[in-house]
Amino acid sequence: MKNILAGIDVGGTYTKIGIVDTENMQILKEKTIPTVEHCNSTNCLNRITDSIKEMCLDIKISIDDLEGIGFGILGPVINNKKVVPVRGFHWEDMVDLEKEVNKYIDIPVFVENDVNVISFGEYIIRGKDELKNIVTIAIGTGIGAGIVIDGKIYSGKNGTAGEIAHTKINSDGEICECGRRGCLSFCGGGSFKKSFLEELKCTGTNEYYEHLISDLTVKDIFDAAKDGEKIAVKYINVFSEYLAKEIININNFFNPDLIVIAGGISLSGSFLLEKIKKKCSGMGALDNWMSKPNVELSVLGNHAGIFGAALMTKYNLDANH
Ligand SMILES: [Zn+2]
Repeated sequence: MKNILAGIDVGGTYTKIGIVDTENMQILKEKTIPTVEHCNSTNCLNRITDSIKEMCLDIKISIDDLEGIGFGILGPVINNKKVVPVRGFHWEDMVDLEKEVNKYIDIPVFVENDVNVISFGEYIIRGKDELKNIVTIAIGTGIGAGIVIDGKIYSGKNGTAGEIAHTKINSDGEICECGRRGCLSFCGGGSFKKSFLEELKCTGTNEYYEHLISDLTVKDIFDAAKDGEKIAVKYINVFSEYLAKEIININNFFNPDLIVIAGGISLSGSFLLEKIKKKCSGMGALDNWMSKPNVELSVLGNHAGIFGAALMTKYNLDANH
């Protein structure tokens, strides 16, 4: 069936699976399963393909009706097929995803880095005619960027383009796991939350966070800052400053049509966007001819990974015909 594809977003903690109608930009069925990091690729793909089969049954289509399966996955990907495992993932090196998936479901399979597919989804949803080049900064447990140039994903020689987490932003910043100080990785959900919780500990228990402490999210910290809670305001200021500096760096280097901020954090809405725009406005442009960055929040929100993976696959299938 044309335009019906499966889009899979394999994250560090959860894998989101969607059956997507790419023509009408609709998710017909979706499901989230644990990624189970210690599993090898066979076990992981077995669970994913079982879920796809079940979901097809639920919406009364045959598995053969799917035009293809697209994966967005952490880390570098070679030629839309081979996955280089990142830390924490117990997959074998250079798993050929199409070959492995075809053992269970014999239809075309494409794979790309997760942030690249998000960026491609954000590019398509906005209408191809108006944009050519976009960069999407996605903030989940970590932080990374996806680059679309002339309507195509740019992943670089080794599939690592857009790995911006260890860009140095602040020479007085916190020590990063890479050993340097002040990396952009501070804005990744995991690091940001860890640093924030340590600060809360140092300053004594803060009543405001008592009910949240066990599963505090970065969005909760943003919400607290909206309420004027002092520690959150301080942290969100630092966060926005880091992100704004990176946005200026990207804009000066690449001058894209648009820079999108995606990931759970984009749900903080205009509060986040206005803060970042304000920080950006005071940075980087010495002369009038220097362009100001055009920054927007993700349109696809929590579904960006699913849509992006399906759309990337649709694009590759159409290009190969
Ligand atoms: Zn680093």
